[in-house]
Amino acid sequence: MRHINKVYKFGGASVKDAGAVRNLLHILENEDCSDLLLVISAMGKTTNAIEKALKDFRDNDGHLEINALESLMDYHEKIMLDLFDGNSQHPVFESVANMFLDLYDNLQATGYGYDYQYDQTVSFGEMLSTTIISAFLNDNGIKNRLLDAREYIITDHNFRSANVDFDESRLRVEKLNENHDGTMLIAQGFIAASSKPEVTTTLGREGSDYTAAIFANLLDVKEMSVWKDVDGVRNADPKRFPKTEKIKHLTYSEATELTFYGATVLHPKTMKPLQNKNIPLKVRCFLDSKLEPTVIDGSEEFINYVPSFIVKDNQVLVTIRPRDYSFMNEQNLGILFGMLNELNIHANMIQTSALNLSICFDENAHKLNALIASVEQSFEVRYNAGLQLFTVRHYKEGVENEFIKEKKVFVEQRSRSTVQIVLG
Ligand code: ASP
Ligand code: MG
Repeated sequence: MRHINKVYKFGGASVKDAGAVRNLLHILENEDCSDLLLVISAMGKTTNAIEKALKDFRDNDGHLEINALESLMDYHEKIMLDLFDGNSQHPVFESVANMFLDLYDNLQATGYGYDYQYDQTVSFGEMLSTTIISAFLNDNGIKNRLLDAREYIITDHNFRSANVDFDESRLRVEKLNENHDGTMLIAQGFIAASSKPEVTTTLGREGSDYTAAIFANLLDVKEMSVWKDVDGVRNADPKRFPKTEKIKHLTYSEATELTFYGATVLHPKTMKPLQNKNIPLKVRCFLDSKLEPTVIDGSEEFINYVPSFIVKDNQVLVTIRPRDYSFMNEQNLGILFGMLNELNIHANMIQTSALNLSICFDENAHKLNALIASVEQSFEVRYNAGLQLFTVRHYKEGVENEFIKEKKVFVEQRSRSTVQIVLG
């Protein structure tokens, strides 16, 4: 029996224009595709563009003309004209035009809650990219079958950050192996569906890595690769630090830590489904597929971590103190942590003292105001916005100083392996 053994994920940057899609074709021409499932994101910055369109439609109660979508339509059409040699009679043009009409309808439906409408609209990015790429690959010798991820990845109704129902998804995904005839499969990243009622959901921004890991887990594959424009995982973002080093081998836990602290190379949820089945994850370079990838797996061999530097911008540091000057004791902490949970505020760093609780989280005026409103009767809240959270994993004495320089240190925390500093 044939079995799907590999999952490859290609993100937005790797399919951002016709040249990039041709590059994808060349990569696949050098691979055995008969046991491969491809997971693909929306092209380039499409998700941001639909987010922006959604805001415009909502600001105008849905009363915008379809030409509000013009630049996004032009962008996809230009790619298609290039890929299909100017032949607009190709059936893919009609499919894509219909998707845009459908997207337009969904953008006009502003009577729904934001999160719901977000998932119904933003999901078109992946539907467009996979439709175009599947047709192009089929025309160019890489025969493939296009799946609708919403028939396989089943979630709850937590729109914009839906939780996967692994049992239901497993029942569906396993069928792919039962029916596999050696034709490469393509699925959308990021998008999923709830059951009862069946509506589109999404897994959170940059969630395509996570989709690929879910498929990898449920299909019990031998390896997963994420194809990026970098040559693997580096110990810092080369756009921010002059000298960086490639990390050749990482454990799942170390990769999870790095992404938790803000390394954007992978989605933080990617590792767990892989770790559970011990599936190695390779971070490969789509600009040069011969470069040695970073390998992430469960083995502790040859691990010798250099310090890794991670910067998270746009942080707010909130300091909360009981108005009656009681201690920041377990009872107060219980109340405040309950509130963070309720408001879906994810703390990037927490520090307590006798009278204060300090929490650092991603700036979000709406959440900050809701937090203040809900605790201000009993607690005094002060905050500083526009800060940076700087984390060094596996630090050595003094390595953080060069980055801190003249910046003001608000809070600092050190464990044996990690130092975290809130800077302004
Ligand atoms: N297209 C989605 C986003 O930009 C998902 C992804 O790229 O992973 O967030
Ligand atoms: Mg992306």
